[in-house]
Amino acid sequence: MRLSKSFVPTLKEVPNDAVVKSHILMLRAGMIRMLSAGIYSFLPVGYKVIKKISQIIREEMDAIGGQEFHLPALNPREIWEETNRVEAFGDILFHVKNRDYVLAPTHEEIMTYHARNVLKSYKDLPQIWYQIQTKFRNEARPRSGVIRGRQFLMKDAYTFDATWEQLDIAYGLHDKAYRNIFDRCDLKYFVVGASSGAMGGTGSEEFMVKSDAGEDTVAYCEHCGYAANVEVAESKVDGKKRDDKSEDVKEISTPNVKSIDELCEFLKIDETQCAKSRVYIFESKPVLILMLGNDEVNESKLEKVLGGIIRPAHPEELKDITGADTGSIGPIGFGGRIIADLRLKDANNLYSGANKNDFHLGGIDLVRYVKDIEYADLRIVKSGESCIKCGNQLDVFTAIELGHIFKLGTKYSVAMGANFLDENGKENPLIMGSYGIGVERVMACYIEQHNDENGMIWDKALAPFQVHLLALNMKKLPVVDASEKIYNDLNNAGMEVLFDDRIDAQAGFKFNDADLLGMPVQVIVGERKLRENKVEVKIRKTGDRFDVELKDLINRIKEIMK
Ligand code: ATP
Ligand code: MG
Repeated sequence: MRLSKSFVPTLKEVPNDAVVKSHILMLRAGMIRMLSAGIYSFLPVGYKVIKKISQIIREEMDAIGGQEFHLPALNPREIWEETNRVEAFGDILFHVKNRDYVLAPTHEEIMTYHARNVLKSYKDLPQIWYQIQTKFRNEARPRSGVIRGRQFLMKDAYTFDATWEQLDIAYGLHDKAYRNIFDRCDLKYFVVGASSGAMGGTGSEEFMVKSDAGEDTVAYCEHCGYAANVEVAESKVDGKKRDDKSEDVKEISTPNVKSIDELCEFLKIDETQCAKSRVYIFESKPVLILMLGNDEVNESKLEKVLGGIIRPAHPEELKDITGADTGSIGPIGFGGRIIADLRLKDANNLYSGANKNDFHLGGIDLVRYVKDIEYADLRIVKSGESCIKCGNQLDVFTAIELGHIFKLGTKYSVAMGANFLDENGKENPLIMGSYGIGVERVMACYIEQHNDENGMIWDKALAPFQVHLLALNMKKLPVVDASEKIYNDLNNAGMEVLFDDRIDAQAGFKFNDADLLGMPVQVIVGERKLRENKVEVKIRKTGDRFDVELKDLINRIKEIMK
């Protein structure tokens, strides 16, 4: 491809609405342009990467027996009503105004629609159906460029099986295919087991990459590979040991002391002697949560323990509920359910609020004074704590979800009446799985992981072009002749070449663009080196530069690309 005739609008400056590295670089390299919030156009060079990723996905899906479909994005709403997902998706779903259509955010319903009445017998199973297709989701705050778009490409696959054992096999095949795909794309990723209660399934895993641009927080152990969303992550931490002797309860005046740190400072005690109180409302009733020291309440864990949605009590409500404001609340005299974190199990000699402003109590013994107290793991794990599995240090960081594999079970087949006859002639709902990969996310995550201060760094697998050929001065005839010949030879050798043949661009400008676009190999044709029948070759990844004789060039590049 000749740059002089192509649309590759590179930018020198960082666009001011972009903060995430991949977003900035994709805009600067002229790979994407925003059309509207969360809606992006892919320009020719960017789209080449999307096609390469799609091809890798296609090859790996075909290798596990996947059959490629192409389903419509415009769906009759009534099909989505069958599974109640018009309501479940809520504001995320785009509706088409003039007819009863929705724009599909995913395709479980449509695949099940095609499976229904067609996959009639166990003999028709198993099936793996997939597509690489556009999805629409009215995401609340689209940001980070194509990482969270309102329109995006997804590889979505769906499996139909007769038995749960077959589903395990289909799930395992996808797990393997996903690892192959992300390995081939040269992504550093890890797999997080997720509980999938709310979606009605029986098992699921998320493929994640560590990134500041991520919206999920995960705990990860480099040593044993333990990985979990912080919503469910656990760690090994000591609790407060029960002292042999319980002191008497004493009321202490603590004027203006609100936080645990202020209490420790005021009484010259350690935070591990304090029980922090938090009040939540569950089913219109207050629940007091006790945490050791500065531990934070993990609201997802709490919702799981209580079995429903909670909300923190408003500051205005606290006085009515406890008799005190935030900072002076505690377990003794609290009229309601009390749940303490496991680190406080059977603890004594604790300090906590007195349910009276500006007073705290010491000598609290949870066994003696807090009847009916319950215990549960309610903490948010922190970086540096010990891994629950192997005891090594946990790292807590934000991450981006690249893909998701999911044992759906029979949720959709039951809702839509998609049944088959088993070996005994008995009618059963199809057993399903669903498996997604965000194609643009793969590209953005690759860029997040492979860049430097000058731009992107592509490897062979995803590079839009293998070679970036720079003719430094297209006004000099020898340079024109030599670079035209190299361009032809490289093309004939089957390589993809981006040829900077622009006449008016300065050499420095061409160098900057080449580094920004980041093709693996740069071939630099200049007048001076040509006099010795040489060109300069630069490896983008390492920055190595060396001269190569013209006659050796093609073979040399072939070698490098191996
Ligand atoms: P997230 O938690 O990031 O919103 P999700 O759980 O909604 O993701 P799925 O419904 O499992 O995502 O979709 C499968 C894959 O599609 C995701 O793993 C992700 O790679 C991609 N994806 C989901 N939403 C978007 C989006 N708004 N923009 C780009 N890719 C997306
Ligand atoms: Mg989502």
